[in-house]
Amino acid sequence: MVSGMEAFARVGEAIRATTSKLEKTRLLAEYLVGLDDATLPIGAVFFTGRPFADRDQRKLNLGYAVIRDSMIQLGQVDEQALGDAYLRHSDIGDVIEEVLAGRTHPVPTSLADVLQTFIRIYEQRTVRKKTEELRALMDRLSPLAAKYVGKILTGDLRIGLRAGLVEEGIARAFHASAPDVSWASLLTGDLGEVALLARGGRLREARLRLMHPLQFMLASPEEDAAAIMRRVGDEAWVEDKYDGIRGQLHKEGGRIVLYSRDLNEVTAAFPEVVEAASAIPHDLLLDGELLAFRDGRVRPFFELQRRLGRKVVKAELRQEVPVIFTAFDLLYLDGRDLLLEPLRERRRLLEELNLPSPFMLAHLIQAQTPEDLDRIFDDARARHNEGLMVKDPKSVYSPGRRGLAWLKLKKALATLDVVVTGVEVGHGKRKHVLSDYTFAVYDERADRLVNIGKAYSGLTDVEIAKMTEYFKSITLKDYGRFRLVQPEVVLEVAFDAIMESGRHNSGFALRFPRIVRIRTDKTLRDIDTLANVETLHRAFTGERVQLVESAQSQ
Ligand code: AMP
Repeated sequence: MVSGMEAFARVGEAIRATTSKLEKTRLLAEYLVGLDDATLPIGAVFFTGRPFADRDQRKLNLGYAVIRDSMIQLGQVDEQALGDAYLRHSDIGDVIEEVLAGRTHPVPTSLADVLQTFIRIYEQRTVRKKTEELRALMDRLSPLAAKYVGKILTGDLRIGLRAGLVEEGIARAFHASAPDVSWASLLTGDLGEVALLARGGRLREARLRLMHPLQFMLASPEEDAAAIMRRVGDEAWVEDKYDGIRGQLHKEGGRIVLYSRDLNEVTAAFPEVVEAASAIPHDLLLDGELLAFRDGRVRPFFELQRRLGRKVVKAELRQEVPVIFTAFDLLYLDGRDLLLEPLRERRRLLEELNLPSPFMLAHLIQAQTPEDLDRIFDDARARHNEGLMVKDPKSVYSPGRRGLAWLKLKKALATLDVVVTGVEVGHGKRKHVLSDYTFAVYDERADRLVNIGKAYSGLTDVEIAKMTEYFKSITLKDYGRFRLVQPEVVLEVAFDAIMESGRHNSGFALRFPRIVRIRTDKTLRDIDTLANVETLHRAFTGERVQLVESAQSQ
C-alpha cells in the first residue's frame, strides 16, 4: 500500500483533478482519517501548503535559489533549461516533476521524515548546506512526491485547496462543525493540533494562547465616505490610519513578544516598547501600529524602516528614530479572551489600562455623516496620518478576516501592492544595476499573475545595489538587459491614475507609477488583485469625468 509522502502526493493530485469543493474535502477527509496520531498533524499542516504550522516561529524562507540549485544538481539540467521549464509551467512543483521525470525506485519516505528534513534545512546556516539537505531528500522521492515537497516549500500547493477547505476537510473527517474547527485554528494557530483535537472530540478545549502570533483582523478598502456611512450605520468609530507596521504585543508574566503583520517576531527591533511593557501589571495581548515618532508627531515610514529587521538596536539608533506603539485593540487581559467582546468593551478596557509611554492610544472619534468623515479625514492628514479606519463599535475581533466591520479610507492616496516579475538594467549611472521593475497583480479568476506596470526605482542607490544582487539570485531567465524573476518581492506602488491599456496583459496600465517601498512584511499572498484594480479604475474614471466636467464649466 502506498504511504508517506507518496500517498500525500497522490491525494494532492486527486484533489487537484476535481473542481468540486465537496469532492476535494471528501478526498482530504478520507486521507486524514487514515493517518495515525503522530502523522495526522503533519499531514493537515502540509495540506495548507506550509512546512510548519502558522504558530511555529520557524520559517524556511528558502527562496528560489536553493530549490533551483538542488534541481540543477539532481536533474542534471542547467539554469537556463530550468528557467525555461518554469516559464512553461509557472509552478515550481510542476518544474520539479518534469526535471526528475523518469527517475524510478524511490525510497519510502514518511511525512515525519520530510518534516525532519524541513527542520534540518531550517537549522542549517549556509545556503550550500540547505541545498544539500533538500537535494538528499528529493533524491529519495518519486518525481510526484518531490513535486509536492516543492509545492510545500513555495507555500502554495495550487490544487484549489484554500485554508478554509482544509478546515472543512478536518471537520468532515472527524464529524465536527467547520466553524468550530476554524475558530480553534485561529485561537491556536496550529491546524495540526486542531486536527488532533477534532479527532478526540475536544475542539472546545482550544484556548487563545499567548506567545504565538494571532492572525490580524484586516480592513476592506472603501473610497467613498457616503458608502462607508451606509455600511457602518449611524454609529461609526473613526480612528486615524497610521502608516507604520502592524504590531501585536504579547505579555505573559515577565515575557514579552512582539509580532509583525507577517506573523514574524520583531521583539528585538523595539527594545523601548518591550521595556515599557514589562512595567504593565497585567498579562495581555495588544494590537496596534508601531510608528516612528518625534517631537510630538508621527514621522514618515522610511524613518521607521531603519529600525526594521534589526537584531540589536544601538542606543544611537534608538535616539535617532524613537518609536511608539499606538494601540487600538485589546484581545486578552489577565486570563480573559476578549475576541468575542464588542469593540466598545475592548476599547473601554484598553483605556482603563493607562498604558505607559511609549504606548499611545489610537485617536478615536465618532462620525455620523459623510461630511463628518471628510472633515476627520483632513484632520488625520494634518496629523500626518495616511487616512482613516472606520470601525463598527459592536463588532467582534475576527482574526485573519478582511471583513466589513473595519473599513479603510485612503482616498486619492491609493497605492497598490504588487509583485516584481521582471527587472531590467537602468540608464545613465544605473546602467550596471537592475533598477527598472516590471510588476504584476493577481488575477483571481485565471489564478495567475498579470503585469500592470513598470517603475523606475524610487529606491536609494544602496537599496538598488542590494536588490540587484537579490534579483540575480532569483532570476528565472536572463535575456541580457532584462531578466524574468521568481515572483516574490512585493512592492507598494503609488501612481497618478489607472488606465485601460493593451501594453500589459492585465489590460491596465498605471500613470507615473513610483515605488513607495519594498513590503518585506508582505508576501505573494498579500498582493492586490485584478478585481481591486478594476474597482480603483472605476473610481479613477469617475474622478476624471468630474475633472472634465469642471474644466468644461470653467
Ligand atoms: P493596508 O495595509 O492598506 O491593508 O491597511 C491595513 C493596515 O492599516 C493594518 O494592517 C494596520 O497595519 C494599519 N493600521 C493603521 N492604523 C490602524 C488602525 N487605527 N486600526 C487598524 N489598523 C490600522
